[in-house]
Amino acid sequence: MKAVSIVKKNKLLFLVALAYLVILVISPDKAIKSIGNSVYYLVEMLQVLPVIFLLTVVIEALVPKEMIMRGFGEKSGFRGNLLALLLGSISAGPIYAAFPISKTLLGKGASISNIVIILSSWAVIKVPMLANEAKFLGVNFMIIRWVLTVIVIFVMAYITGMIVKKKDLPVDSKKAETLEIKEDYCIGCGLCVKLLPEYYEMNQNKAVVTKMPEGKEAVLALKESIEKCPSKAIILNKEEIVS
Ligand code: SF4
Repeated sequence: MKAVSIVKKNKLLFLVALAYLVILVISPDKAIKSIGNSVYYLVEMLQVLPVIFLLTVVIEALVPKEMIMRGFGEKSGFRGNLLALLLGSISAGPIYAAFPISKTLLGKGASISNIVIILSSWAVIKVPMLANEAKFLGVNFMIIRWVLTVIVIFVMAYITGMIVKKKDLPVDSKKAETLEIKEDYCIGCGLCVKLLPEYYEMNQNKAVVTKMPEGKEAVLALKESIEKCPSKAIILNKEEIVS
């Protein structure tokens, strides 16, 4: 029974092994070539993945959720899209390395649209790739392809963001309170910072959020600052967070 459950759990792996066995019987030369290719990619993955997992741990432990939400969250707007494009374009390593990082960013509040932009630019418009493309196919070709690809990536990201919700992803999701300050409304009186310096700070005469509330007590503590804000600039939202 244990063997059956192991096979069920790893059915893809067993299917691949079976395919190799079949090829080995039908055409041993092709099977040996296939195994050689698989070993090559396995070695490549073993070289890349430890670094990627280390990076995800660093993002998880050291990069505050607020920073990711500000940079890549639902409300990061076009600036967030450009940041995602930049991150994907300057990244290094094969595309499969982007998936664990994307999951970590999603868990920290990045939007689905921005994840699509990161993954797509990582896959097709990485800077080293562009340099090689210009060398072999010419600068004009590279520029036209880059511009058209970026347009398509943005369209794809917006459509995916409209269709796919975080709750649809095969990861745990929960609703969490998120704190936001409408920059245009804030008159810079500093009252919120005085009341709760652990949640707000002033930046160029505007209040900014430095920490997200965790738990009911934190939400209650924030209520006073929300109610007392003279311009009603502070807003508490409920957002879908994956973990
Ligand atoms: S209390 Fe409201 S208006 Fe005053 S600094 Fe804070 S957010 Fe801005």
